[in-house]
Amino acid sequence: MNIQVLGAHNCESQNSRLISLLIDDTIAIDAGSLTSSLSFSAQQKLKAILLTHQHYDHIRDVPTIAMNFALHGTTINIYSIQPVYDALSTHLLDGKLYPNFLEKPQGNPTIKFTMVEPYQTVQIEGYNILAVPVNHTDLTVGYQITSPDGKIALYTGDTGPGLAGCWEQVSPQLLIIEVTAPDRYEEFARGSGHLTPNLLKQELTIFQELKGYLPRVVVVHMNPRLEEEIEAEIAAVAKALNNSINLGYEGMQLNL
Ligand SMILES: [Zn+2]
Ligand SMILES: [Zn+2]
Repeated sequence: MNIQVLGAHNCESQNSRLISLLIDDTIAIDAGSLTSSLSFSAQQKLKAILLTHQHYDHIRDVPTIAMNFALHGTTINIYSIQPVYDALSTHLLDGKLYPNFLEKPQGNPTIKFTMVEPYQTVQIEGYNILAVPVNHTDLTVGYQITSPDGKIALYTGDTGPGLAGCWEQVSPQLLIIEVTAPDRYEEFARGSGHLTPNLLKQELTIFQELKGYLPRVVVVHMNPRLEEEIEAEIAAVAKALNNSINLGYEGMQLNL
């Protein structure tokens, strides 16, 4: 399984993109930078887009990629939870901001939306995909992806501390998890459902106690302006836990 980090940050600039991951060129998770990162032909290779939650930085490119599929005369499968469907249909794709690709063209809408329930496993293109609730402000599910050859990766989406329940459901070889801000922002992180390096350390310690191992860890969703500070603190956590923990970046290729 190859996972490409298309966007690794929580803020966009010339040098940083919003969250999107691409698995084996066919399944995308979160839509913060799908159209800005992928060529038209790469977009057309997508078989499915999984969305973790409704926040704008994770769904932003749904209208733009849907437009590209619509103009190409093709359709795209999107999988997510009910609140994400509600947010898309009442806001981004309400027919005023942009065409309602959930319903148009009539009879064969551009977006084929499949509702996912927490703890439910769906099969997409031979991949087993398990939606696991995490601990963010609005309902958010991480996705554990098991490839046809048995490789397992978990992307949490945005989450704050309190992941023991999530850890019990999963057994990834690779964990892609958020760390939004450095340790001095812990109060902000706890209040807004995000992690700092120290909070990540606590969650990984719980993972190790529960599962008896630690997966390779890649951190995403960093605030680019605070990234140097986050990087130094993450290096200390990696050393303390004696585990591979790296910051993700745009264009990063992860192979399992
Ligand atoms: Zn969020
Ligand atoms: Zn976010």
